[in-house]
Amino acid sequence: MRSQTKQPRENRTITVDFRSEATYFQLLGDGKAFLECVLAFVMALGFQLAHKATCRGGGCLTRHSHYARVRLGGLTIWRVQCTTCRAVFTILPHFVLRYRQMRPEVARDALLATHGGLSLELCAVICHISPMALYRLVCAFGHQGLVPVLTRCGLPLPSYFLADEKHSHCLTDKVYLPTIVTGRVIWHLGYTTEASAGAFTQSYGEFQRAAVQQEPSYRVKGVLTDGFDSTTKSLRTLFPGARLGTCLRHALLKLPKKLAAIPSPVRKALRSQFHTLLHRARQRKSLRVFALGQRLRHFADHVTRVAGTANGERVRRWFRDKKAGWYAVLEDPQMPATSTLLDQAHNAMERKLFAMKGLHHPGGSHQAFLTGLAHLYNLVPYQRRAQYAGQCGVEVEGGRVPTPDWMLNLQILTSGGFR
Ligand SMILES: [Zn+2]
Repeated sequence: MRSQTKQPRENRTITVDFRSEATYFQLLGDGKAFLECVLAFVMALGFQLAHKATCRGGGCLTRHSHYARVRLGGLTIWRVQCTTCRAVFTILPHFVLRYRQMRPEVARDALLATHGGLSLELCAVICHISPMALYRLVCAFGHQGLVPVLTRCGLPLPSYFLADEKHSHCLTDKVYLPTIVTGRVIWHLGYTTEASAGAFTQSYGEFQRAAVQQEPSYRVKGVLTDGFDSTTKSLRTLFPGARLGTCLRHALLKLPKKLAAIPSPVRKALRSQFHTLLHRARQRKSLRVFALGQRLRHFADHVTRVAGTANGERVRRWFRDKKAGWYAVLEDPQMPATSTLLDQAHNAMERKLFAMKGLHHPGGSHQAFLTGLAHLYNLVPYQRRAQYAGQCGVEVEGGRVPTPDWMLNLQILTSGGFR
């Protein structure tokens, strides 16, 4: 087990939906029809094959060689080759998982149970596989990054996003999961052992690099955080031109902690007045920042009157430190104002990581495992009674998925052979 993913030989596997096993076996005997079927599938997805750097992919594909997967009862797997750049693609039929004996239908149930928060051990019990096999399966999908998978679904790179770190534990050590979310999809789920600006810059930088690789002109317009110093510092370093806002809901939650030694009803009344203040500031159509500045000053004076000078001063100092982040939220109507959707994503991760004591061995492939869980978060559809019943996060955000079957989508979208 390694904590860093080693760069393997170029993975040019592609998963192809042959509809049925019978069709696949029939096509094995007819090279021309086999190739036509593969090409039609790739065309229908609108994907590009990952040719070698110098190749524009204009040439033809030929059947290159085949081999038998002994552990799958001697199943024949074909490789096809680009006649121009000689890149070789392995064609995996939809009913086979890469390097795995496990059938996709078994993997589907185990992954769904994992996604639902059942421990690896119990998922393994209901599916008759070993917990380690399930762990490795999640890691295998996680070797493909979130940015290429989401852009394959047609989602634009996010101009505005939420960023925050989830605090977790690896055995007794504290660890942090820097996360980037837009709406219902996770764009980045990293892993650091420190809460320093340097560690977060490293982690969020992985997202930035992946995004720029997709689109060299990528620019971030706005980011909403909870105002934690290391987070804002790292984002300012990575996205110099971006507007950095602070979550307004967190401001509301923080206020009572700034008010010491006063009766609870007074604290509650102040909190509700602060809520109204933020709400009105957001509703204004013009001069939003000016209005908020004025109201914050009046509110601090009001705190001094009803809760004493010490509380008034503390609130005034807090406003002075935080107001730039609140102004940033109000300056741009497209800025997200609260980080609720990021908290939801973190809560979903929490359930899995809590159930997954097995993850937290120091030599585990944390990054690949977390990325695998994030793919599930993005691609597993919501349940029948949910608000977005039957749709997955990617679809809710306006993306397209290749097929109506989430497991097949996961196989296709995480294939290494697409560009
Ligand atoms: Zn080529």
